[in-house]
Order: sequence, then C-alpha cells, then structure tokens
Amino acid sequence: MEAIRNRNEQRARANYFVHSYGCKQNVADCERIRGILELLGFKQGTSTEKSDIIIYNTCGVRRTATDRVLGNIGALKKLKIKNPELIIGVCGCMVEQEGVADYLARRFPFVDLIFGTNLIHHLPRFLYEVSFGARKIRETKLDDGIVEGLPISREAGVVGLVPITYGCDNFCSYCVVPYVRGRERSREPEVILNEIRDLVAQGYKEITLLGQNVNSYGKGLACKVNFAELLAKIDSLPGRFRVRFLTSHPKDCSKELIDTIAGSEKICKQIHLPVQSGSDDVLRLMNRGYTREQYLDLVRYLKEKIPGVSLGSDIIVGFPGEGEREFLQTLSLVKEIKFNLLFTFVYSPRKGTRAADMPDATPKEEKKAWLGRLLKEQELISDEQNAKQCGKVKVVLPERFTETAGKSVLLGKCGNGFLVEFEGERGLIGEFVEVKIVGATRRSLVGERMTK
Ligand code: SAH
Ligand code: SF4
Repeated sequence: MEAIRNRNEQRARANYFVHSYGCKQNVADCERIRGILELLGFKQGTSTEKSDIIIYNTCGVRRTATDRVLGNIGALKKLKIKNPELIIGVCGCMVEQEGVADYLARRFPFVDLIFGTNLIHHLPRFLYEVSFGARKIRETKLDDGIVEGLPISREAGVVGLVPITYGCDNFCSYCVVPYVRGRERSREPEVILNEIRDLVAQGYKEITLLGQNVNSYGKGLACKVNFAELLAKIDSLPGRFRVRFLTSHPKDCSKELIDTIAGSEKICKQIHLPVQSGSDDVLRLMNRGYTREQYLDLVRYLKEKIPGVSLGSDIIVGFPGEGEREFLQTLSLVKEIKFNLLFTFVYSPRKGTRAADMPDATPKEEKKAWLGRLLKEQELISDEQNAKQCGKVKVVLPERFTETAGKSVLLGKCGNGFLVEFEGERGLIGEFVEVKIVGATRRSLVGERMTK
C-alpha cells in the first residue's frame, strides 16, 4: 500500500474512474473499490480520458448488459495507446462467468486487471503487482467469506446502501448469480446496525438494505436472527430515517416479516417481490419454489396487513417452454395484482445455467411482442395507480434537483416508493417534505409543497 501511495504522491495526477454496470449490489461494491483507491492516494476523476486507473464493474445477468460492457472496454484501447501507464481493470459478475475471464484477456490484451466479485479486498496487491511487477492480473476465485472493514467511499447523497447478505443459494434455473457471486452468507447483525448508526450520524436519511434474497437473512449465522428480527432492530435505532430493502424472494417472505413491516415506523411500506411468471409450469421450470396461488395469497396478506402497500415485481417473458397460454397467465396475474412498479425482461440464456440447456422453440420476435403487450398493460395500470394518488399528502425525501426553463424542480421518493417531483429549492435535498399530489406523468407523480 505504502509503495503505491508514495508513487501517487509524486505524480502530477493520480485520478480514478470507476463505473458500475449492474444492480445496487454492484454499486455498493464500487463504493468499496473507490474507498480502497482513495486510501491508495487516487482521486476521483471526471472522465475516462482524465484518469490514470479505470475500473469497470460488470454485470452478467443478461446478454444486453454484457454486450454494452464489451463495447465500452474496446473503446479504452485508444486511451491505453496514448497513455501506456494507464491501468485498466474489469471486475464484477461477468468476469466470474465460465470462460469469460480468458475471453476478455484474449480479446482485450490491453486490460491489466481482471478480478472476480469476491476479491475486491485484494485490489492493493493487484495494483502493486501491475505497477511494480509489470504483470497482468487474472484472478477469479470465488472465495465465500465476507471481508469486513474495507474503506467505503459512498456516492454523496441521501440514500446509503448497506449489503446484508452476499451471494445466493436459490439457483433459479435461468440465473447466473449463484455461479458468479458464490454461496449465500449474511453479515453479522451488529456490523449492519453499526454501519446504519454511522450513516445516520453522517446525515443519510434513507437506508437501502441489499441482498439477492434479503428474506433468508441470518441463515448460517451463529446468533439466531432472521430478517424480520433484523428489521425490528433497525427500526428501533434512534434518528429520523427510512429503510427499504432489495430483493425479497416470495418463497421466503414470511407472515412474521409482513407483520413486522406493518408495525414498524421506519420501514417503508413498499416491497419488491419478483414473481417472474404467472404460470405454474414455468415457475416450476424456473425452480422458483412457489405457485401462482401461493404468490397471490402472499399479496392478499400484504395488502390486508399493510394498507396502501406499494408492490414491485420482475417478470421474465419467453422462458424456455413458455407458449402463448403461459404468457397469458402472466398477463392475467399482472392485471389481477396491479403492481405499482414492474421490471420486464426478455429471457436471456446464460451459459452454465440449467435453463440454457432447455429446448426453446419460441422465436425472438414473438417474445418481443409479448413484452410489448405486457408493457402496454402495465402502462395502463401505472396510469390508474398514479391517478389514485391524486389529492393525497405524501412525505417526500428529495434526492435530486434540476433547473429547467426557470423552474426549480426536486425529485424524490415518498414512503411507499412512488417518485414525486415538485417545485422547491435545492436546500430541501435530504429533508422530509410534505407534498400534496396534484397530477402525474409517466415518470413520476407531480406534487405541490404544503405550506405550513
Ligand atoms: N436476486 C434478485 C434479482 C436478481 S437479477 C431476485 O431474485 O429477485 C434481477 C432480475 O433479472 C431477476 O428478478 C429476473 O427477473 C431478471 N433476470 C435474471 N436472470 C435473467 C435471465 N437469464 N434472462 C432474463 N432476465 C433475467
Ligand atoms: Fe438469481 Fe434466483 Fe438468486 Fe435471485 S434468487 S439472484 S433470480 S438465483
């Protein structure tokens, strides 16, 4: 570490550029990468052109994500030619996929560092070897521990990300995550609580707990604690702040958890509960561990216990074996539940997963047409849901500020997760503001600040 820090002190410039291509967990990993780089004396750069080390933290969940990264890595070649001292690193989920690290090394010989999802704490060593040993690094061992105490350089703002579990044991048949992030493991509750105390003391007003399946939090810990109990502990911490969490697996969403959310003060009345499909046959092939009816039961219980709860979901269309009949079952589920937020994806085969070997006869065009129908339906539902919010008073936490055409607009979320924009000054960022909803656009609700 000393060696790199000393060298950086002597250089005219030692800037870094770290970019996340993936989910919130990937963003949280970037915060740790930046923390380490800052400890080594690097400063945040404003662009790839003005940086001395560039790290791309990749996503491997769908083909579209990997294609985008490949294009962007390729574009770095000309920077390396201009500045041979530039260090280029690629890490994250894509790197851990079967054969990908070798492929990257072959296709992009100018990349210096290729490292896996669980090896971030080795970054000082990697940089030392690249800088002083003039060698390339390619390490992708899936080491299944948790390394605490890494420095974190958070994105400035209102929302603090706190991972509570790493990895995944569910092996949904389409999903690459268990192969690229390793076995599920939970952080100790005290470590999580201390991190949240710290964030609140620093002025963060919203905490997002992260895990591939937060609902199975606590499995394997020596102290007996489940996710509902962890939430109750967080809820009783002092200070005014909100808590959200991502993602909940329906098979592990217990009534105890729903009751805890219902009775809490700080836990947002919002849940992202990916259903993936409305067909029992497809759910079975996906290895999701619940049926359509069980999911509907869960949603009924949620709506009954938490009035006004906001529900989000993910859906994959065009899974192998899905035909028009199965797709219509998904469409009818969406119509019945009326999600507030829906993320929809066309199935993307991932090498090494079980679904990648399943026969898949449906043409791509048909899958895209299904996606279009689903999106259209969801737009109608969202418009209807948004219209229902009109006239309500919400407590909004502004996160962003824009000035357009002489208007100062704040954008933030209310407790149950709806995006709300309203006129107001920049100084309100990070303050809880009462806003009356007066309209809606496709993107967000539109409100007016309540005068006291
Ligand atoms: N752990 C979370 C999210 C995992 S990835 C969960 O279980 O909900 C986020 C979403 O990407 C998934 O919910 C799923 O809808 C989608 N996804 C994952 N693998 C996919 C694939 N191979 N093709 C298309 N979508 C996929
Ligand atoms: Fe992937 Fe399923 Fe794990 Fe989510 S729960 S990360 S979809 S295997």
